[in-house]
Amino acid sequence: MTHQPSSLITRRQWLTYVGAASGTIALTSLFPNASQAETLETPYATLPALPYAYDALAPFIDEKTMKIHHDLHHGAYVKNLNAALDKFPKYKEKPIEDLFPILNKIPEEIRRTVRNNGGGHYNHTLFWESMGPNAGGEPIGELATAIVKDFGSIDDFKKQFVEAGMQRFGSGWVWLAITRKGNLAISSTPNQDNPLMVSGIPILGNDLWEHAYYLTYQNRRAEYLAQWWNVVNWNAVNDRYKKAIA
Ligand code: MN
Repeated sequence: MTHQPSSLITRRQWLTYVGAASGTIALTSLFPNASQAETLETPYATLPALPYAYDALAPFIDEKTMKIHHDLHHGAYVKNLNAALDKFPKYKEKPIEDLFPILNKIPEEIRRTVRNNGGGHYNHTLFWESMGPNAGGEPIGELATAIVKDFGSIDDFKKQFVEAGMQRFGSGWVWLAITRKGNLAISSTPNQDNPLMVSGIPILGNDLWEHAYYLTYQNRRAEYLAQWWNVVNWNAVNDRYKKAIA
């Protein structure tokens, strides 16, 4: 079957995977039904359709950037991920978010490809879902309450998020994620890494690669980070938070 990344991983599930990564469960037991014959011919992942028009986020993110970013960049991550997992089809039994915590057990031949392109596929899927037209404004609901509890205020949260995005040298992501303890924390990862590989469950992420903003903002990352709040779909982000924390 085709696996699409889901932002619906719960903290409980994630802790189970982390437990597996630390060696408490034999890897083979994670794949009790792995059948190479069944999985070889089906692509592991497909490029999800953008949930709105390419120009829907303009003027904050321009149409050409969205088209290149979604169709070509994200499309390439999907293609490369599929090619890698075709070499070791038993890993196609698990959705990509389940593979991140056990990257060190994936064959070395494909490990870096799965990390970079699986990360790219997951991160961009979450990214598209976290934005929308007529969005912006302030966080809502349980997420807003948690943000105020953990950062003091919405403004302090936004300020720290932007600062973390500015501090990332080169390409990467800035995240709001749920930690092992269940609170919220801001972090940044290089390349296409994400919190599922290291420290928690991503709730919101912004793409710091220049391909995400260069056509409109050129080298002005600070301006991009500031304007990006205008397209964040807080309804979607709050839903993701509520499901993850359950
Ligand atoms: Mn990107």
